[in-house]
Amino acid sequence: MPIEVSASLTRRTFVQTAISGLAGCGCMAGRRAGAAEIAPEPSLRIRGVVMVPETLTWKDWPDRARRAGLNTISLHHPTSPRKLLEFVRTEAGQEFLARCKNQELHVEFDFHAMRDLVPRGLFAKDRSLFRTNDSGTRTPDQNFCVHSATAMRTAVENALAFARALRPTTERYYYWSDGCASWCRCSRCRELSDSDQALLVENAIVKALRSEKPVAQVAHLACHVTMPPPKTIKPEAGVFLQFAPARRRYDLPYSQQRSKDETDSLWYLERNLEVFPAATAQALEYWLDVSRFSRGKKLPLPWDRNRVRADLGTYRALGIQHIKSFANDLDAEYVRRHGEPTFLAEYGAALAELFDP
Ligand SMILES: [Zn+2]
Repeated sequence: MPIEVSASLTRRTFVQTAISGLAGCGCMAGRRAGAAEIAPEPSLRIRGVVMVPETLTWKDWPDRARRAGLNTISLHHPTSPRKLLEFVRTEAGQEFLARCKNQELHVEFDFHAMRDLVPRGLFAKDRSLFRTNDSGTRTPDQNFCVHSATAMRTAVENALAFARALRPTTERYYYWSDGCASWCRCSRCRELSDSDQALLVENAIVKALRSEKPVAQVAHLACHVTMPPPKTIKPEAGVFLQFAPARRRYDLPYSQQRSKDETDSLWYLERNLEVFPAATAQALEYWLDVSRFSRGKKLPLPWDRNRVRADLGTYRALGIQHIKSFANDLDAEYVRRHGEPTFLAEYGAALAELFDP
């Protein structure tokens, strides 16, 4: 959807930028877009799956998740929260939310957001809002300049607008960097790591959100360039670690990947846990993610029950209490090709056995 950008760069204009874009897909006028139908529980321990809405072609996903003992389904989009907003306003989206409510399942929304929080159309008016790349050039390709007060204010206002439109029942909010990719290298930003720059944004968002919702929490996603812990910026109250080791090895137990030299190893989780509380930290894993392992070849998931149980034990030993796994492409076509999977139930059973005995 094209983003309408008004002529003046005022605070009011930025809010309208997000709202007008959201309103543009409001074909189901009067319907609630969000999912805040069951009360948030600050003590809730997340046991969940994360998927793009297209995965919901597997009939009765909420019922299946509940039967597996899970308590949360997170909807995901790889580039824009607007797509999720469009989905929850469709008949299928409304039915999904109703099913989750009936099954007392929590609903969250995990998405890469910075392109929408600072709309790219603003680049033509003021390049200083956007990041400087390694070549010293301002570019709207991803993320923004965290030392631009206007960009930061715009991001916060639009984050609030999305929070009002897409309402997680857990009061946990996920605004990820674009593509888990680099932030700004301008003269003022370059002293801060990508993790520090992301945390600056998350801190600003959580402070604003908590002025409206005192129990709101905002994720700091450790993934790709933000896998190392922040070094300079400290997390505000309400910012929690979400650790997504997308590039780790899955043919070995995670406990055997502890070296700093191994990509996305446990070393990075342990360093992040020196900055973020373990009690609120969340592992975002890929055990059930058909799309990650299949890579378009429609292969069966390489599920190893014992390996996943071992990995869960590794996370538990580090104090992690919140667990989600991507489950993209575990859809109707997958079940047609490979039959009814047993691994969803085994995943839920392992979580219950190891975390809630
Ligand atoms: Zn900058």
